[in-house]
Amino acid sequence: MRYEEPVFRPPCEAASLIIQATVGCPHNRCTFCSMYKEKKYRVRPVLEIKEDIDMARSVWADPTSVFLADGNTIAMRTGGFIEVLDYLNEAFPRLERISCYGGARFIRGRDVADLTRLAEHGLKIIYMGLESGDDEILRRVRKGVTADDYVKAAEKVKQAGIELSVYVLAGLGGRGRTREHAINSALTLNRMKPDYIRIRTLVILPGVPMYEEVLSGEFEECSGREIAQETRLLLSHLDVEGARFLSDHVSNYLPLYGRLPEDREELIAAIDQVLAHPDPPMLKPRIIHSL
Ligand code: SF4
Repeated sequence: MRYEEPVFRPPCEAASLIIQATVGCPHNRCTFCSMYKEKKYRVRPVLEIKEDIDMARSVWADPTSVFLADGNTIAMRTGGFIEVLDYLNEAFPRLERISCYGGARFIRGRDVADLTRLAEHGLKIIYMGLESGDDEILRRVRKGVTADDYVKAAEKVKQAGIELSVYVLAGLGGRGRTREHAINSALTLNRMKPDYIRIRTLVILPGVPMYEEVLSGEFEECSGREIAQETRLLLSHLDVEGARFLSDHVSNYLPLYGRLPEDREELIAAIDQVLAHPDPPMLKPRIIHSL
């Protein structure tokens, strides 16, 4: 396979074939994100992507799921995207799921009809980084969108019949804005009505602008306990029917899984149980060198 490293995928796509349809992220400005800093965004030629699919087929005949990397493959033009989806479906008869990352900035301008065509040709799920539903935090981290943009993008994805998995980045408001981050993220998620709500925890690696903010004291990172309290506050304000709530990322302190709304109190109780301990081992500071 011809991967331009590093390649990222959601944890739940660990068993998927990864095809790199695009390289990098067309936004690439978020102050906390180190994922694609070394890459200049481009859409790979469809012919090249098809060659990669052929290569993959020669070694793996029957994947049931494919993740189309990199950071915002939803920004691909519809025609080329559909060609790739069709080629994948022809190549792999047992394919059940094709997915990609999709930012609100690149979905809000698309027609629902466009997205519906992608769904009809096999795009099953979009992973979207909300990060925060608080407009002030979104502005500070240069996400390039507002909470309203997320709601509009989510409506389009859902209308098109594509499943929506949304990431919240715990700790993104720092100590100074953890409460606003939790509550406004919950309120935005309530409006977005995603199928999945996934938590990741902020890890600030050297080289990103936020790292300098930490060194200068402008941004104060939350402790493990504060992250757990923030997640608890988020959960207590969530009112989403039929969503799955998951804390399944390597960056997280607590593994959590449940269905909303029925498991909400159980999830909160699980956090309370950890918080009741004066110095819970699982909330101790960690050192993560890469994501
Ligand atoms: S967080 Fe997402 S949108 Fe922002 S730079 Fe990273 S990949 Fe791009």
